[in-house]
Amino acid sequence: MKVTVFGIGYVGLVQAAVLAEVGHDVICIDVDENKVENLKKGIIPIFEPGLTPLVMQNYEAGRLKFSTDAKEGVNHGIMQFIAVGTPPDEDGSADLKYVTAVARTIAEHMQGHKVVIDKSTVPVGTADRVRSVMSETLKGRNASVAFDVVSNPEFLKEGAAVSDCMRPERIVVGTDNEDVVDLLRELYEPFNRNHDRMILMDIRSAELTKYAANCMLATKISFMNEISNLAELLGADIEKVRQGIGSDSRIGYSFIYPGCGYGGSCFPKDVQALIRTSEQIGYTPRILQAVEAVNDDQKLKLPAFIKRHFGDDLKGKTFALWGLAFKPNTDDMREASSRVLMETLWQAGARVQAFDPEAMDEAQRIYGSRDDLQLMGTKEAALHNADALVICTEWKNFRVPDFDVVKNALKEPVIFDGRNLYDPERVSKRGFVYYAIGRGASV
Ligand code: NAD
Repeated sequence: MKVTVFGIGYVGLVQAAVLAEVGHDVICIDVDENKVENLKKGIIPIFEPGLTPLVMQNYEAGRLKFSTDAKEGVNHGIMQFIAVGTPPDEDGSADLKYVTAVARTIAEHMQGHKVVIDKSTVPVGTADRVRSVMSETLKGRNASVAFDVVSNPEFLKEGAAVSDCMRPERIVVGTDNEDVVDLLRELYEPFNRNHDRMILMDIRSAELTKYAANCMLATKISFMNEISNLAELLGADIEKVRQGIGSDSRIGYSFIYPGCGYGGSCFPKDVQALIRTSEQIGYTPRILQAVEAVNDDQKLKLPAFIKRHFGDDLKGKTFALWGLAFKPNTDDMREASSRVLMETLWQAGARVQAFDPEAMDEAQRIYGSRDDLQLMGTKEAALHNADALVICTEWKNFRVPDFDVVKNALKEPVIFDGRNLYDPERVSKRGFVYYAIGRGASV
C-alpha cells in the first residue's frame, strides 16, 4: 500500500519504518530540512533500540523515503498519516497548529480520495476540526474531492517503540465509515495475524481512549508516589509495600514504581490536556488535577532532600548526576525530572556534572552554553570531586556500580536516589548516606 507519514518524530519515524519493513511503500514528510537531509545520509535523529538498521535497510530497499515536499507526499499515499507533535499550549491544552497545518496541506494538494489517519494524540473533537479545515481548504480551491478522517492513536513506548509497533497489543481505530475499516485492515494485516488486535469504535471514543490510557498510567505513578510520601512519614518502606500490592493480580506490578516523578513528551502534557478538555466542558477532573499536582511536587523531592542535607545555599557544591533522559532506553529529555532537579540546583548556586548513556546530545542542545553544567563521558567521570551523587534515571548500568569507586570519587559519601535502585541497608553498610523515595534517609 502507498503510505505517507507527516512528521518524522518518535511516532512518525518508527511507524513509517515498521510499515516499510512489512512491504508498504512509505514516504515521510517533515518541515525540518535538516532532519530530512540527515536521514538521507543515514543519520537517525532519535535514539530508539533497533531503529537505525530498520530505517537504513528500508531506505536502501527504496520502500522508505524522506522528503520536505508536501505535494509529493500528498500525491503518494492513499493513507495519509498525521504524526506531528501536539505540544501543550500556554494553558496546557493540546496545541493543534501542526495537526491543522498538515490537514490544510493535504487538502491543498489532494487530487483523489485520501484517508487521513490521525496518529498524533489529539483532544476529542479534533477529527471534526481536521475535517472542517480540509473542507474549507478544498472549497477555497473550488475542488470537490472525497476524503475520510480516521482516529488511530499510537500506544508505543519510547525505548521499546520498534517492538511495540511490530507487535502492537491493540490497534485502536475510530471511524464512521465501514469501507475505511477494510483499508485499515489491509494496512495493518501483517501486525494482526496472531489474533485480531483491531478495536473498532467511533472517532470520539478512539480520541478519548488515548488520553484515558496515558492518564490511567500517570495516575498509577502518582498514586504510588503519594503512598511513598506516606511511607516515608510513617516509617514504612515503599519497596516492600510495592511488592505487597503488586502481588495482587488485580493491581499488578507494572507502573507502580515510586520515583522522582514522571516525565516525557506524553504523560505530563496528556494529563494537562485532559484537564483542560474537562474544564472547557464545565467538569472538574479532581483525580487528574491531583495526579498532576502530586507529580509536580514529586519532581521537587530530590532537591528537597539535597537541601535538607546540605542546606539551602548550595554555592560551591557540585553534584554528580546519573541520568538525564526521562526514562531509560531513550534520549528524550522532554519534561524529565532531571531538568527540574538541575534547574533547582543551579538556582541554589550549585554545579552539575552529568552523565547519561544516550541523552548527552539532547542535554547539550538544551543547556549547551551553561557553565554550571558539565557533560561527562562516563558515569565514573561524573563523580570526580562531586559533593554527592544524584540519580534521576534507572538505566541498567547504574544498577550495580562499584560502590568503592563511587565513594572514593565523591567528596562526601552521599547518594540521592530518585529511582530506588539500591538496597538501603547494603549502601549504608558501605558507609553511604542514602536518600531514596519513600524509604526514609538511611544514615
Ligand atoms: P516529535 O516532536 O518527536 O515529532 C514531530 C515531528 O513533526 C517533528 O519532526 C516536526 O518537525 C514535524 N512537523 C511539525 N509540523 C509539521 C508539518 N506541518 N509537516 C510535517 N512535519 C511536521 O513528536 P512525537 O514524540 O513523535 O509525537 C507525535 C505525536 O504522537 C504527539 O501527538 C504525541 O503526543 C503522540 N505520541 C507520542 C508518543 C511518544 O512516545 N513520543 C507515543 C504515542 C503518541
